[in-house]
Amino acid sequence: MLDGCDNFATRLAVSDACVKLGVPLTSAALGRFQGQVANFAGHLEGQSCYRCFVGDAFDAEDCDTCAADGVLGAMAGWVGTFAAMHAVRVLTAGHAAMGDPQWGKVHLLDGLTPALRTMRIVKDPECRGCSAA
Ligand SMILES: [Zn+2]
Repeated sequence: MLDGCDNFATRLAVSDACVKLGVPLTSAALGRFQGQVANFAGHLEGQSCYRCFVGDAFDAEDCDTCAADGVLGAMAGWVGTFAAMHAVRVLTAGHAAMGDPQWGKVHLLDGLTPALRTMRIVKDPECRGCSAA
């Protein structure tokens, strides 16, 4: 599943559905000059999901929207292309030398500095998306 929607409620619903169905999730997000891209496999033992990353509390009033803040086309292109390559990593894992899917690693794309950082999201044992028995 590739998710690039613009609100947390939908992102969390997509993440929960992916965990439930055993489907990997490539998540891409964009806000002004910052982007986030990650592959999640919360259905796999020891792997985090998108909900482990952002938690439960978001609703429509909790965050800025692309419609309100604006989005720079070049940033959408960078983040979208990065996400597409990340999805290719998932699709070819074990079949081609395209790198590993990097489950649970969030890549932060900074268009102003510019910079690219990576952080690992540890599985939350209390996560109601991927840790519920
Ligand atoms: Zn989780």
